[in-house]
Amino acid sequence: RRRRRAAELTGPGRTAEGHAVKLLVNLGAPQEWEAAAAAESEGVGLFRTEFLFLDRADAPSVAEQTDVYARVFAAFTGRRAVVRTLDAGADKPLPFATAADEQNPALGVRGLRTATRDPGLLDDQLRALAAAARDSAADVWVMAPMVSLPAEAAAFAERVRAHGLSTAGAMVEVPAAALRADALAGACDFLSIGTNDLSQYAFAADRTLASLADLLDPWQPALLDLVHMTATAGARHGRPVGVCGEAAADPALALVLVGLGVTSLSAAPGALPDIRAALAAHTLAECRELADIARTSPDAATARARVGERARF
Ligand code: PEP
Ligand code: MG
Repeated sequence: RRRRRAAELTGPGRTAEGHAVKLLVNLGAPQEWEAAAAAESEGVGLFRTEFLFLDRADAPSVAEQTDVYARVFAAFTGRRAVVRTLDAGADKPLPFATAADEQNPALGVRGLRTATRDPGLLDDQLRALAAAARDSAADVWVMAPMVSLPAEAAAFAERVRAHGLSTAGAMVEVPAAALRADALAGACDFLSIGTNDLSQYAFAADRTLASLADLLDPWQPALLDLVHMTATAGARHGRPVGVCGEAAADPALALVLVGLGVTSLSAAPGALPDIRAALAAHTLAECRELADIARTSPDAATARARVGERARF
């Protein structure tokens, strides 16, 4: 029954009583663009730009990047397009941007940290994004991956604005960033929680190891605490707080995330209809109840089972 319902429902994400929750798509390489743009969504919540930099000896030129970004923005005219700046390192190594001699690449010079070592890389990307955004009618937001400190978010936001781009955000993927989410929210325009890395770093569990799947389960109450902390801080500062990790793709968990205070969910295009239907079947108050149930559960399996029993699908 849920399938039929999901197929019938269209339009912006909203709870049963109309509380808005933006439903956005995650986007990567060009072969994904057509389906993503055609999907019913309010835009892109995470444009992973790494594909432009992979399998090559040098970084792409500003002109080459501008062309790629312009095509994405054109496909999302009139919609939001949240672009993540280059997230090199760890599971995404690049010959020209990552050090080969790190013993723990996941804890090394990766994400935004790469820009400290090689500022030109980030400046070229921001230059290209600004040029593409200037000629487009998409609502372009730019965010940095792997932010650990409020000062890093502030410096990034200053740099984004110096390039003429108006909206700068920080991803929350490191527990320290969630713990200091108030200062982080005050330092930039929006926050986006990357639950894949936030799980990895909160549980000290390599995200690529299937044998650690229990620790990496996005229903872990400790992870939900970090999401709650971040969303609450964002709300205090009037900042949107999205989730763009895999957690957002599970409709029952999406209800919990909204109950924790998250204002947008970004997932693969195919996941959006079921999330939209789940939201439409629950009020915000019900989402908050489900969030309390999940967060006060002793473990991930119990959280999932209890919410599964209570949610209406
Ligand atoms: C995340 O870490 O949750 C995320 C969205 O980024 P990526 O999976 O690309 O690291
Ligand atoms: Mg990440």
